[in-house]
Amino acid sequence: MAGISIKGLTKRYGKLEVLHGIDAEIKDGEFLVVVGPSGCGKSTILRLIAGLEQISAGEVWIGGRRVNRLEPKDRNVAMVFQNYALYPHMNVFNNMAYGLRTRRYSKSQIIKRVQEASEILGLQGLLERKPRELSGGQRQRVAMGRCIVREPSVFLFDEPLSNLDAKLRTQMRVELKQLHKQLKTTSIYVTHDQVEAMTLADRILVLEAGNIEQIGSANQIYHEPATTFVAGFIGSPGMNLIPCRLEREAAKLILPNGGQLELGMIPKGFRGSELIMGIRPEHLTLNSLLNGSPFCCIKVSVELMEPLGADNVAHCSMAGLEQNLVSRLPGDCPVAEGESLELAFSLQNLQLFDPQSRERLPVPHESGGYEAISSLAG
Ligand code: ADP
Ligand code: MG
Repeated sequence: MAGISIKGLTKRYGKLEVLHGIDAEIKDGEFLVVVGPSGCGKSTILRLIAGLEQISAGEVWIGGRRVNRLEPKDRNVAMVFQNYALYPHMNVFNNMAYGLRTRRYSKSQIIKRVQEASEILGLQGLLERKPRELSGGQRQRVAMGRCIVREPSVFLFDEPLSNLDAKLRTQMRVELKQLHKQLKTTSIYVTHDQVEAMTLADRILVLEAGNIEQIGSANQIYHEPATTFVAGFIGSPGMNLIPCRLEREAAKLILPNGGQLELGMIPKGFRGSELIMGIRPEHLTLNSLLNGSPFCCIKVSVELMEPLGADNVAHCSMAGLEQNLVSRLPGDCPVAEGESLELAFSLQNLQLFDPQSRERLPVPHESGGYEAISSLAG
């Protein structure tokens, strides 16, 4: 097994730079998920680590070894792709054994390793079948098996579940997590699906346009998003981001519709400034559901309801705001399209962002970087 260290990783295609100097440390046995929108450079990171592309600048270390100049076959990494790339004319056993044969393993070693992998993956009964005689999930397991038999020090996954239907994807997600618990092989897993990222990861790396926006646990990424990008990308739907202004002489936020929020405390150095306030759809609800905790209200009109069974997602318009406010309400909540409502949220769930840097400002309990109303009056 091996940790991975990436230093100033940069990739250019001609004049186009697609990775701008990525730094990351992946611990031995860690499961790191790289998440970000299509085209942000996720696959490029994997290809550079695997050695399938030339690095433009920077370094990749695997298990304490600088691998920049090593051939892919000498890096001891295994990559699982979205299209399983199985050999259609070979049965499951031979698909799994192929990589070992080309590496000149003995017959008895090959049988032992394929049997072990097929037990781990629940493929024992299927070794004689051809890929076309397998379901999508079984094919993906065979593709995994082909990697496992090589006992690599690193697994690289490039959106391995995105060709599967939703139900199978959920099931394979759980299987992958169990597999990692068992094998504990250092893994980098690329996906554009943030639910997959949240559920699988020890840590998540959020990538946007070739830059790291944040690396952290699912909890940190969700509760303390470093930037407006992370706040909007993570969560389904993502965080509501509302431009507003802080009063100069009082700890009040002025909303786009002219409404005012009493904050009590404000971040230091932001008196009279423009700010972006963030509130998650699941924290924006009916005030009757907030159990008496101190809250703020926003007048909206319901434009569209998305019934999801357990929840209803309400897309609402608010005066002065271009985009819709999104609220996640309980499934039994009697709210109809066209209705006027007051949506409420607790101050403790409010996040504030600097519109210039797009960075999150710490909330009062995280730092002393806040001033109270009384200090403003003076
Ligand atoms: P992702 O996997 O996040 O969707 P990629 O890593 O595949 O993104 O691609 C990142 C960017 O690099 C994209 O803008 C893509 O168009 C560009 N790119 C990828 N491969 C090449 C290539 N061979 N030549 C030129 N541009 C490329
Ligand atoms: Mg990709």
